[in-house]
Amino acid sequence: MSRTPIIAGNWKLNMNPKETVEFVNAVKDQLPDSSKVESLICAPAVDLDALLKAAEGSNLHVGAENCYWENSGAFTGETSPAVLKEMGVQYVIIGHSERRGYFHETDEDINKKAKAIFANGMTPILCCGESLETREAGKENEWVVSQIKAGLEGLTSEQVSKLVIAYEPIWAIGTGKTASSDQAEEMCKTIRETVKDLYNEETAENVRIQYGGSVKPANVKELMAKPDIDGGLVGGASLKPDSYLALVNYQD
Ligand code: PEP
Repeated sequence: MSRTPIIAGNWKLNMNPKETVEFVNAVKDQLPDSSKVESLICAPAVDLDALLKAAEGSNLHVGAENCYWENSGAFTGETSPAVLKEMGVQYVIIGHSERRGYFHETDEDINKKAKAIFANGMTPILCCGESLETREAGKENEWVVSQIKAGLEGLTSEQVSKLVIAYEPIWAIGTGKTASSDQAEEMCKTIRETVKDLYNEETAENVRIQYGGSVKPANVKELMAKPDIDGGLVGGASLKPDSYLALVNYQD
């Protein structure tokens, strides 16, 4: 089973609609074919309309950075997964460590979001990853496996086959400190084995696993050469067209 690599930018709370259009215009004709590498940008909800319009007809895929688990109702300030789907969004990041940390999202919330995203015909990018303290205590595998088990609770093997999981050690996010390619591979392999234990071999072979944490043009090739790393979730290095293009065209 060959998995299509997926390189995703996570813009966080950066970029406005004008900058979004400028970015897309600078990259859209130089993206790899989607059957070779999927090029994805996950943008703030307020930029999605501009991003979708600018990306139309190109190889750029569009994702959101978060959504709620209800489609409508009295939930002031939330983003509806049904509306994201209606707009043309394909992916939604859930469980990013910034959402877990600053906004107190729990594994249970994240699992509800995963179900709502699948119910609306989109694909979740489920983030997991340990803190430096947890790694130094030697408990990183236990921690990540428990996040995966809780995040996947009640999902079918068909759903998990389409899922993207992003392993992002918190100590490597925005710090310039990348996990070594061996450390990243080791955890991505553990995640795939966990999916195999929970489901079956086929599901584990299908699920795509990204590494995230200071991925940049200088290290993307080495990371992507690892057998269990199918992509990158990239913050800082996804904000500039040149650097984003170098990432998605890492095979050249
Ligand atoms: C991220 O935002 O998910 C991330 C990994 O950020 P950075 O690439 O800047 O470390």
